[in-house]
Amino acid sequence: MPDAVVVGAGCAGAPTAMLLARAGYDVTLVDRARFPRDTLSTHYLQQPAVALLRDWGLLDAVLGTGCPPIAQLRYRVADVAIDGPMWTFEGIGYALGPRRYLLDQLLVDAAVAAGVDFRPGHRVTDLIVEDDRVVGVRLRTEGGPYELRAPLVVGADGMRSVVASRVGAAVHVTDPPRTCVYYSYWPGVSDRFEIHEAPGSWIGVVPSNDGLTLVAAYFPQSAYRGVRLDAGAVYLAAVRDTAPDVHARMVAVRRAERIYGTGAQLNFFRQPAGPGWVLVGDAGHHKDSLTARGITDAFHQARLLADSVGSGLDLHDPDRLCAALRRFERGRDELLTDEYRHTLKLARLAPSARRLASLRAAAEDPEQAAGFFRSLCGHPFQDRMAPP
Ligand SMILES: Cc1cc2nc3c(=O)[nH]c(=O)nc-3n(C[C@H](O)[C@H](O)[C@H](O)COP(=O)(O)OP(=O)(O)OC[C@H]3O[C@@H](n4cnc5c(N)ncnc54)[C@H](O)[C@@H]3O)c2cc1C
Repeated sequence: MPDAVVVGAGCAGAPTAMLLARAGYDVTLVDRARFPRDTLSTHYLQQPAVALLRDWGLLDAVLGTGCPPIAQLRYRVADVAIDGPMWTFEGIGYALGPRRYLLDQLLVDAAVAAGVDFRPGHRVTDLIVEDDRVVGVRLRTEGGPYELRAPLVVGADGMRSVVASRVGAAVHVTDPPRTCVYYSYWPGVSDRFEIHEAPGSWIGVVPSNDGLTLVAAYFPQSAYRGVRLDAGAVYLAAVRDTAPDVHARMVAVRRAERIYGTGAQLNFFRQPAGPGWVLVGDAGHHKDSLTARGITDAFHQARLLADSVGSGLDLHDPDRLCAALRRFERGRDELLTDEYRHTLKLARLAPSARRLASLRAAAEDPEQAAGFFRSLCGHPFQDRMAPP
C-alpha cells in the first residue's frame, strides 16, 4: 500500500507527487492520459513559478526545451504605454512560456526520478470510503478495473475533479464566468511578454518553444456564443482592433497551429480537504485564466501541501494527518484569496478610471512602474497603487 495516491499528473499533481516522494513517502501517481499530452491552456509561467522550478532542480531541463527566457514586458491600454524589464523575484528576472506537452512531461519525469510509481492510462472512477474516511481509489485501465488503497488520496484531477465530486467537496466561493479565450501560435511575432487591453478585449502575447509566439484574445463571456461561431475571424479582428502592431506582425507570417479556445473560465474555491483526502490545483480552486496564475498557483499548492505534511509523518494516524491537512487548508486560502479578487476585477474587461490613473502614474514613475511589474506576478497592484 502506498502512503499517498495522487490522481492527475498535471502541474499540480506531478510536483505534489515529486515533493512527497522526496520527503520520503511512497507515492503512486495515476493519470487517465498517456504522456506526453497537451492540454487546453496557455502557459505563461511567472517569475515565482520559474523560481520554484529552479528550487526543485528542474529549471535547466525546462530551459533545455528551448523556450526563451522572457525578460521584457510591453503593456498597452488606452493612452498608457509601459515598457521595461521584468520584475526580479528571488533572483529570477524572467518569465517562461514552455509548451505544456514539454513542461508536464518534465514534471512527471522528475516525479519518477524521485521514486514515484507513475501509472499513465489509469482512470480513477470512484473512491473507496470506509467509516466516512477516504481509504483509496477505484481505477479502470485497458486491463480492467482495480482498487488501490492509501491513507491519503490527493485529487489533482483538474477543475472537473472526480475526487472532489465523489467526496462532495462543498463550493465555498463561486462567481460567474467573466471571459472566454481563444489562442494560437505564430512564428516570431514577439520576443517579449505583451498585454494589450481595451474595453471588452484583452490580448496576451507569450514567446514559446520552436520560435513560436502564443497570441491569446480574451472576450466577455457574454460574447462566447457569437465568438465560437467564427472564432478564427473574430480572434484576428480582436487582435487587429486592440493590438494593431501585433496584428501586423501576425498577418506577415502563417499561423502555425489551429485556433484553440474555451468558455469554461470557472471561478470557485472548493473545500480543499477532509478525512483521507485533499485537493490541489484546479481541483480545489479555479479562476479566470486572464492573469495566467494557474500553473504558479498549482506549484505553490504542491509545495504548501508537502510542507504541511512534512517528513516522517505517519499518514495512517488520522489525527496527525488531519492536522497537516488543516495547515494546508488555512495556507491555501491565504495564498489564493487576494489574487482571486484581483483576477475577477481584471476579468471584467473594463479598465476603470481609477486603474487607468494608477497605470498612467506607473508609466511616468519608475517606482510606481515597479509596483505594476510586481502585480503581474500576483501582487495586486490597483488597491496598493491607486491614489486615495
Ligand atoms: C485557456 C486557458 C489558459 C490558461 N493560461 C494559463 C497561463 O498562461 N498560465 C498559467 O499559469 N495558467 C494558465 N491556465 C491555468 C492552468 O492551465 C491550470 O491552472 C493548470 O493546468 C492546473 O493544473 P492541474 O494539474 O490542477 O490540472 P490539469 O492540468 O487539468 O491536470 C489534471 C490532470 O488530471 C488528469 N485526470 C482528470 N481526471 C482524471 C481521472 N478521473 N483519473 C485520472 N486522471 C485524471 C488529467 O488527465 C490531467 O492530466 C490556463 C487555463 C486555461 C483553460
